[in-house]
Amino acid sequence: MSNNKMQVQAIEKGTVIDHIAPGMGIRILKFFDLTDKPDCITVGLNLPTADGYQKDIIKIENTIFSREQANQLSLFAESATINIINNFQVVEKYTVNLPDAVAAVLSCPNSNCISHDEPVDSRFYVKTRQDSIKLSCHYCEKAFQPRIFKELS
Ligand SMILES: [Zn+2]
Repeated sequence: MSNNKMQVQAIEKGTVIDHIAPGMGIRILKFFDLTDKPDCITVGLNLPTADGYQKDIIKIENTIFSREQANQLSLFAESATINIINNFQVVEKYTVNLPDAVAAVLSCPNSNCISHDEPVDSRFYVKTRQDSIKLSCHYCEKAFQPRIFKELS
């Protein structure tokens, strides 16, 4: 059994977000408010991968992500693998896909956007054309490249 497999299987029940690019694990914890919940969370940073690179990993006990929730992570970790664990076994494993919309995570780069003044959750619609991704704001309707957002740059 590889080290990697043991890391993934070390919790009894919950969700493991694996293969996060190094440095993005902390951002995911912060921007998705994962630490606001009482779940036990284990984070590994800059772990060596079998192919000689590094990755971050987040293990959240007793919370099972839906596909929709997991896909919200994809702008932060496009290559993330989600492992759903039950009774120490991986019962489901998949890679994330871009969602149709991202809610409550990114703040609008347009400083005049009404979302900054109103008590509303930000909301961006994800549009892909060929290889380029744009996020358009529900409130001001402006479209932005992902790297414009401070959370993603
Ligand atoms: Zn906006």
